[in-house]
Order: sequence, then structure tokens, then C-alpha cells
Amino acid sequence: MRVFISIGSNLGDRVRNCREAVRRVAANGGIRLVKESSLYETEPWGVVDQGPFINSVIEIETQTGPRELFEFLKKVESAMGRTQNERWGPRAIDLDIIFYGDLSIDEEGLTVPHQSMRERAFVLVPLNEIAPDLIHPVLGKTVSELLRDLPGKGGVQRLTEKI
Ligand code: ADP
Ligand code: MG
Repeated sequence: MRVFISIGSNLGDRVRNCREAVRRVAANGGIRLVKESSLYETEPWGVVDQGPFINSVIEIETQTGPRELFEFLKKVESAMGRTQNERWGPRAIDLDIIFYGDLSIDEEGLTVPHQSMRERAFVLVPLNEIAPDLIHPVLGKTVSELLRDLPGKGGVQRLTEKI
């Protein structure tokens, strides 16, 4: 299945945290890393009284089911020291499932496509870099269409230097 995961960090060495998360995801024997967006520096969303984030999106190919994949991502988060649980608050690493193929899931603790992605420039901008023509299975719009209609894109800046 073709799966998109968003990655974010606003604590510690944010760039390193994002890269380390990608490394850990790709090291899973059941996951093949297909594409990786650039890294972006982004204004915090939701709880705005915190430092800027680094965000990216990756595409993976996997046979691992959505719930099992979700549990694996939570394990990577906690192994990387995510202990605070304030919603939308500061975190060393945040890994969200954005799309899982065309599946639409609405379970306790897991909604796919990710419920807030359509409002989040920090997800849509990197996603648009690697998959602009991907169609949102519920909204029936492409990523580039969703992004076109979204305000606040100015708060998402591609990191220009290769660090
Ligand atoms: P956010 O990711 O929205 O910034 P959190 O990481 O604190 O905020 O997540 C809040 C909750 O979102 C988690 O407890 C998780 O169960 C839930 N959640 C629902 N759908 C998803 C998804 N597709 N990917 C990751 N988390 C999800
Ligand atoms: Mg999350």
C-alpha cells in the first residue's frame, strides 16, 4: 500500500530529529521508503506559544496494516523521547499517517486520511512537493487543489541550505 506520513519536530535538534525518524521508519523491514520531501521550517499551529517546527512528508510502501503501522510510529515517537502529551504542543517528534492508500478509517485514536491535514499548510506544502496529483480519497480533490485553497502558506518556508 502507498502510505504518506508527516513528520514534525520543534524540540531539541529539530533537523536531526526529523532525519532520525525517517531513518528509523525506513529501517523497518516491512517498509520501503519511496520519496522524501524537503525539510520546511513552519510556524506552530494550534498552540502558537511555542517555537517553530521542522516538517516534512515521506511516501512509503508497506503491507503493514494501518493500526499496526500507527502503533509502530507511536513506538518510534516514544523511543525518540516524546513524553509530553499536550495536544499540538512542543514535541521532539510527531509522526502522523496522512494517507493509507485509498482507505478511509475512523476508529478510536486513528482517523485516516488525517482529519486536520486539509487545514495544515505544514502538511500540504511538503506533500505537494512529492505528490501534487494525489487525490484525497474522501474530499475528491488533489493535493495541489487543497493547497491552492488554503491560507497561511507563507508560514511554511523550505530550508534552503542543505544541512
Ligand atoms: P497532532 O498529531 O494532531 O499534532 P498529537 O500527535 O498529539 O497531535 O495526536 C493526537 C492524537 O491524534 C493521537 O492520540 C492519535 O491517536 C490521534 N490520531 C488520529 N488519527 C491519526 C493519524 N492518522 N495519525 C496519527 N495520529 C492520529
Ligand atoms: Mg501526531
